[in-house]
Amino acid sequence: MYEFAVAPAVTQIRRRGVEITEVTASSLAAELELETGDRIIKVNGRTVRDYLDFRFQTGGETELVLNVLKRSGEEWEIEVERDEGEDFGFTFEQIVPRQCANECLFCFCKGNPPDARPSLFIRDEDIRLSFLYGNYTTLTSITEDEMRRVTEQRLSPQYVSVHATDLDVRAYLLGVDKKRADISAKLRRLMDAGIEIHAQIVLCPEINDGEVLQRTISDLAAEYPRVRSVAIVPLGLTRYNEDARLVPVTKEFCQQIIREITLVQDELRAKLGTTFAFLGDEIYLRAGRSVPTRKHYGDYPQIEDGVGMVRFFENDFRALWRKLARRQPRDAAQLNGTILTGTLFAPVLRKRIDSLNERFGTKLHVAGIENRYFGAEIVVAGLLTGSCILAARDQVEGEFVIMPSVALKSDEAIMLDGLKLEELERQLGLPVHALDFDSFARMLG
Ligand code: SF4
Repeated sequence: MYEFAVAPAVTQIRRRGVEITEVTASSLAAELELETGDRIIKVNGRTVRDYLDFRFQTGGETELVLNVLKRSGEEWEIEVERDEGEDFGFTFEQIVPRQCANECLFCFCKGNPPDARPSLFIRDEDIRLSFLYGNYTTLTSITEDEMRRVTEQRLSPQYVSVHATDLDVRAYLLGVDKKRADISAKLRRLMDAGIEIHAQIVLCPEINDGEVLQRTISDLAAEYPRVRSVAIVPLGLTRYNEDARLVPVTKEFCQQIIREITLVQDELRAKLGTTFAFLGDEIYLRAGRSVPTRKHYGDYPQIEDGVGMVRFFENDFRALWRKLARRQPRDAAQLNGTILTGTLFAPVLRKRIDSLNERFGTKLHVAGIENRYFGAEIVVAGLLTGSCILAARDQVEGEFVIMPSVALKSDEAIMLDGLKLEELERQLGLPVHALDFDSFARMLG
């Protein structure tokens, strides 16, 4: 039986192996009589803990021995011969995230309303999710087993929340002792093994800004290209996180940070040939400044962390415009509806949509929705909730509503406050389309 290796991080006892959740008809798995609910516990004699292990242990192998715990309780040993690259044709259960042992001042869990969905209280700190989805870990409680796994299975890149290289400051922010906060040896070991690191700094005014920030960037830049990039994103305070040690991020603070970091970025570009330390879009927008050019972001190494999303959108929008100029949108006048977004992005989006209406005759309206659920300080579109949208009903015009698909759970049409999309439609009395940019572009023709 597999158990989590670190005592403070133990959340549950895992069952052996990894469960098959779906088998494709006429696939290799079906031929082997594997079924939903069966668990693969070993591949070629090696224990399988999750689908990453399975992927690692089967990759490139054409002859395999699988130990399977059948749904019925029987154990089977199956010899498999397959063509190179042949897919088994099954899907696996999701990885159960390992949880952190920190008490970060700014932890998003402390900013949730008490009645928020239980999944919003999961404090994941998992090197597997870091590799798969770009989730950040602090490495404070990474085990020897996990360290070995990252290097052996080449789980690269890893996304690491550094916050500060000053140990006193890092320990204070993470709510752990200095010994635990010190990850320098772990980082070095990962980098020496060829694992690429993307770092994150959650910027907390009066704690890790100023000289602490300058030193953190400089320490990390000294490791370039093993540390590929640093994302500097502002602290987000909801109305539920009332820790007096945290100072809210203001417009003036963002303006000051841009002034300071622009100089650092210029130096880094001259020295490393890359911007390296990127400010989150939110910092520019809160400061009332436009985001940097396309060139600034290179290959957008931290876009999932809200770094470069606005520039990416602007570029996508330009491409859409060119396409529409060649072929007018279908039934443009019937495209009469409201696009919902957070208050931060609304002015940027409104400018583009207004020009679209003027040129192509669409009747789209942009509504920046205030976040009443988490508090007005939370301005991003991804944290919009059903109750915020319903409270802004008078801003909705036209015959349909478009909302950002990122405001829904990735595997279910439900918002952060538990309101289902179909219920939102019912209460608004209008169809609601949850779209990303590509699906919006397709809607226009
Ligand atoms: S590491 Fe992440 S999940 Fe854990 S306490 Fe800090 S912010 Fe919260």
